[in-house]
Amino acid sequence: MTTIPLVDLGRQYESIREDIDAAVARVIKSAVFIQGPEVGAFEREFAAFVGARHAVGVGSGTDALHLALRACGVRPGDEVVTTAMSFFATPEAIRMCGATPVFVDIDPATCNLDVAAVEAQCTSRTRAIVPVHLYGQPADMDPLLDIARHLKIAVVEDAAQAHGARYCGRPVGTIGRAACFSFYPGKNLGAYGDAGAVVTDDDAVADQVRLLRDHGRRSKYEHLVQGFGARLDALQAAVLRAKLPHLEGWNARRRALAARYTQELTRAGIDAPHVPEWAVPVWHLLVVRVKNRAAVQKRLADAGVSTGVHYPIPLHLQPALAHLGLGAGSYPEAERAAGEVLSLPMFAELDEREIPRIVSLLGGERADQPGN
Ligand SMILES: *Cc1c(COP(=O)(O)O)cnc(C)c1O
Repeated sequence: MTTIPLVDLGRQYESIREDIDAAVARVIKSAVFIQGPEVGAFEREFAAFVGARHAVGVGSGTDALHLALRACGVRPGDEVVTTAMSFFATPEAIRMCGATPVFVDIDPATCNLDVAAVEAQCTSRTRAIVPVHLYGQPADMDPLLDIARHLKIAVVEDAAQAHGARYCGRPVGTIGRAACFSFYPGKNLGAYGDAGAVVTDDDAVADQVRLLRDHGRRSKYEHLVQGFGARLDALQAAVLRAKLPHLEGWNARRRALAARYTQELTRAGIDAPHVPEWAVPVWHLLVVRVKNRAAVQKRLADAGVSTGVHYPIPLHLQPALAHLGLGAGSYPEAERAAGEVLSLPMFAELDEREIPRIVSLLGGERADQPGN
């Protein structure tokens, strides 16, 4: 029995081993481990990839969100509107600024935030909106930009899962005032450790993030503001530089695999992930919805197929956010999705011929999917 992992970083390394090994050796030989030419070069190359003026390397996607929000003026007492369905880092970064996350429910068709619910959650204290391009699918940005323009607040994109995705022809990461990328190892562009970047066209935001990531200094021992130790590591920058030229090809491969999944799921009578007509996703995750998820996961695991759940607990029900007082029933679509979503194996090196077997194991336990 062949086993199929959810993500396979080993297969990717084998395909680019020489470039990675050379990049790592180059940094060690240079003995420049903090900032330096590798970080600067990656920042230029990633900014060009996204199509923005600036990319500022930071320690993680979480650092990117935290520092971008600060640079966009989020302060203690402010509110930031975001989705109830994301990785915990999204509201965590809002709280790191001393601000309060205010959630909106999701559109069940895509699991991205329901843009029609955003305006009602905005108050005089709202300082920013943070849409998440969940699973590599762009959120519906134009309605959010309209609200933000009207309220004179910032849109900060959480693009941690969406390197290379497009919304109405525009690259994700160039739409809001700033965008945050994670290079966590399993992301579409992954480092060999923690890494992240803030991308922006706004010179002042880029300048603030550069200051904040490095202890608030511009020169060695003069600290202008209270900052953080949140730099991008030179070794990680070198790994990312070796991988970046492959990203378009890997994303294209994910699209081909997603097309095959869609074909097989449709044939099996299971709803394939919905893609709005304006979206070009990058399929960080391939997520279906099933009833009786535990049983389905076990059947797949018994057959050697690994799956994941992104995410089993909606943000407003996380114990760490209990003080917000948002009980069960606050965001019903996010709660329902949290009980039904199932992530199937998806990585560029996945053998397309494995997909029919994976789908056949899902059986008939599909969840009804309104709005799809
Ligand atoms: C991965 C991720 C983050 C956090 O990135 P790290 O690099 O792990 O800190 C933030 N938001 C979303 C949606 C993510 O998937």
